[in-house]
Amino acid sequence: MRANRPDSGLEKALRSALHARGLRFRKHHQPIAGLHCRPDVVFTRARLVVFVDGCFWHSCPEHATWPSANADWWREKLAANVARDRRNDAALRAAGWQVLRVWEHQPLPEMVEKVIDALTVARAGMAGP
Ligand SMILES: [Zn+2]
Repeated sequence: MRANRPDSGLEKALRSALHARGLRFRKHHQPIAGLHCRPDVVFTRARLVVFVDGCFWHSCPEHATWPSANADWWREKLAANVARDRRNDAALRAAGWQVLRVWEHQPLPEMVEKVIDALTVARAGMAGP
């Protein structure tokens, strides 16, 4: 298990890598009111938010697990986390934002490519009517 600290080295590494690619964004910006989390990276103009989800706290399909002590409590807690993620995603999308979630287990270059792809799509969508 790895605790999902508010601002892990991984999020910093992702931000540095994006910055090195010439991308500019805000961190921990609240794009809409009532969001119960802080996105790690926010592209305000393209209206794209990026979350780096911890495998444990967000129940990654590859590493989903819960401690054997208090298993029921953990199962409920983690299920509630996932439900909250989906509510946040829905609220953001309803407000016209694109949402990208990457897993903490993904290699950094893969995360960067996913962000760039999502950004390309988000910007293309803005060119519409
Ligand atoms: Zn994982």
